[in-house]
Amino acid sequence: MSQKKSTQCLVLGSGPGGYAAAFRAADLGMQVTLVEKFETLGGVCLNVGCIPSKALLHVAEVVNEAGQHEKMGIKTSKPELEIPKVQKFKEQTVSKLTKGLDMLAKKRKVEVVHGLGHFEDKHTLAVIAQNGEKTEIQFESCIIATGSKPVHLPFLPDDPRVVNSTGALKLSITTGKMLVIGGGIIGCEMATVYNAMGMEVHVVEMTGQIMPGADLDLVKPCQKMLEKRGVTFHVNTKVESAKASKKGISVQFTGNDKLEGEQLFDLVLESVGRKPNTAGLNLDQAGVEVDARGYITVDARYLRTSQPHIYAVGDIIGDPMLAHKATAQGRIAAELVAGEKVAYDTVVIPNVAYTDPEVAWVGKTQQHCKEEGLEVEMGVFPWAANGRSLCIGRDEGCTKIITDANTGRIIGAGIVGRHAGDLIAELGLAIEMGCDIEDVALTVHAHPTLAETVGMAAEACEGTLTDLYMPKPKPKFKKNHEAISS
Ligand code: FAD
Repeated sequence: MSQKKSTQCLVLGSGPGGYAAAFRAADLGMQVTLVEKFETLGGVCLNVGCIPSKALLHVAEVVNEAGQHEKMGIKTSKPELEIPKVQKFKEQTVSKLTKGLDMLAKKRKVEVVHGLGHFEDKHTLAVIAQNGEKTEIQFESCIIATGSKPVHLPFLPDDPRVVNSTGALKLSITTGKMLVIGGGIIGCEMATVYNAMGMEVHVVEMTGQIMPGADLDLVKPCQKMLEKRGVTFHVNTKVESAKASKKGISVQFTGNDKLEGEQLFDLVLESVGRKPNTAGLNLDQAGVEVDARGYITVDARYLRTSQPHIYAVGDIIGDPMLAHKATAQGRIAAELVAGEKVAYDTVVIPNVAYTDPEVAWVGKTQQHCKEEGLEVEMGVFPWAANGRSLCIGRDEGCTKIITDANTGRIIGAGIVGRHAGDLIAELGLAIEMGCDIEDVALTVHAHPTLAETVGMAAEACEGTLTDLYMPKPKPKFKKNHEAISS
């Protein structure tokens, strides 16, 4: 027997895209039903992504910090990890947030239906609960936010010692030798965690650099620090095959002399990308189109699918696959469903690797500018000359701002260093606001802070920097000064 319901706005998937959409739609006075296949709300981000990984990265940071302060006069012994307690800390952090979402849904009177959803037609979603019960929900509008899942390399053996990011967060194996396949952000973050747990970590990356997409000058200080702590990186290296035996997972590589023959690992993490959760949704029944890679196609400004009353947001519509992008789109989709005159016209989405040091970038990278043949000016400030950075015993950071050489407008920025992920926000705002480099250079930053490096990178670009000796031709962008003096 199936239950029947109806709703104004149906949201499918409760990750950062889905819950933001559901809550915003409810705040705008709509009757909202949120469908989620798992018991807890929050999607990948809260349950098996951003939050648990950052809880573990914090543990790694504390472990790495200990013993680093002898020259400051602090002697500490090597930290001992109690893995069950680390797991508990991670789980409690997740649970606080997911319970918070339950409460927020209740307060807003968002009806939550748990079960696996699939479309029956353009206005009906069937939800199959774990006990097999079916609920048919008629909807006026729908926002699809079903997210993504890890790509699986078919030649890897089905073995508990071969895990994806979800498995890696469980910390079931924390001793011995680990292979991370894929040197992207998730791979590097997990390498940081397992290195701090005491494993011998090897990261293989098929392309010529780790964190592909970020500028190499930002990646290098992070790579160097991880190498210093014992992580080995193998770029231009491909995993060819792997098999499981009693002794471990033996893996064969190509492209790397140092990894000749079969190499044995106690744990293998595959982090080679993600793919959309569209299988089983019966999108064709709803008339919703997908692209060749399976991502739902939407119009860029209005997030509408091929059906005018069905929207899609977050990972399910493709890159960048980031929680904050999903949230921003979820809110806009909800406002559009509620009839507001808005559009998704975000200029930039920041990227952050929460390694130590963190690597963050926003807008155009130097590499992008080169590929597009753009004429640019750059301001770079090394953190070795920043007082605050030295006060915390770190000097490897760097802040870089890229401007359009003809207008002085900021078009991109990158930071490597402690809290780079927090610091990049100022430059994201600068790009969204259409700031010239002068706007940031003339903004007074508190002293002594890491944020000063943003102001100083802007001054370096302007030619007004006094904290370093940088002989530079006549400063270029002086619009405000000229306006004031004339
Ligand atoms: P998801 O979070 O994937 O949520 C989709 C939801 O839909 C899921 O709950 C799923 O169960 C549900 N669903 C799917 N199909 C159905 C169905 N048929 N019926 C019912 N429910 C369904 N991003 C960042 O910005 N910062 C980070 O630090 C970061 N760290 C990450 C670390 C890891 C290890 C991973 C794996 C990802 C990380 N991400 C990070 C990426 C981030 O988690 C995703 O970009 C984000 O969760 C996408 O949100 P979403 O709402 O599109 O989908």
